[in-house]
Amino acid sequence: MKKTTVVSLVAVVLAISCFGVVASAKEYLSGIEWAEPEMVDPGTAQKAPADAVVLFDGTDMSQFNGADKWIVADGAVTAGPGAVQSKAEFGDCQLHIEWATATEVKGDGQGRSNSGVFLMGKYEVQVLDSYENRTYFDGQCGAIYKQHPPLVNVCRKPGEWQSYDIIWKAPRFDGDGKLLSPAFITILHNGVLIQNHFQLEGDTPYTRAPEYKAHGERGPISLQFHGNPVRYRNIWVREVKELENRRIHEPKIR
Ligand code: MG
Repeated sequence: MKKTTVVSLVAVVLAISCFGVVASAKEYLSGIEWAEPEMVDPGTAQKAPADAVVLFDGTDMSQFNGADKWIVADGAVTAGPGAVQSKAEFGDCQLHIEWATATEVKGDGQGRSNSGVFLMGKYEVQVLDSYENRTYFDGQCGAIYKQHPPLVNVCRKPGEWQSYDIIWKAPRFDGDGKLLSPAFITILHNGVLIQNHFQLEGDTPYTRAPEYKAHGERGPISLQFHGNPVRYRNIWVREVKELENRRIHEPKIR
């Protein structure tokens, strides 16, 4: 018998036996009945997903308090005196926000295009021009301020538009104000992972160590004014809810 014929025969026998295994394979059943994931139009780079709360679409700052001196022009808003806080409040959420540091480079370290995105009005993700501008690493762009530097520095040049996509798991407190579970944050900066499910030590002040102080289940998205004309655009938030499910039987093989 030719060598090629033998190889073909072996292949046929193997295929038949594999098919037999597949035909009699047992299936694992978790025993959990899941709600069907909802259909959501994902939008585009310019358009938010259908289930998002749009906080700023380039036209006005009516979804924020304290924005009297923030100037809207050309589809963006420039930070002005006073922090702004979203009127809507959020717990666990996904936040998309685009921003640009000043085109004209002024100052250095913390003084160059400093701003910040605050989850629940308390937990700051630093916004800073960290393109060829060194400062303390846990205070550079993309840091959880005074807690954790970004894993990499993916800042674009001054004046160029950049993005944060933030996944936020809010802290939980019991009725007596005791911390039940800390906050966690994941951040993509310009599409690159810079914070990977980082566990926050508490809030992010300049003058003391981080600590958790009990607060409600929801809080505003707040943007900092630090004296620099940082611009923002295309801001939207999606609430994150777990899928409903129920156990209908113990895990089993059938
Ligand atoms: Mg800041």
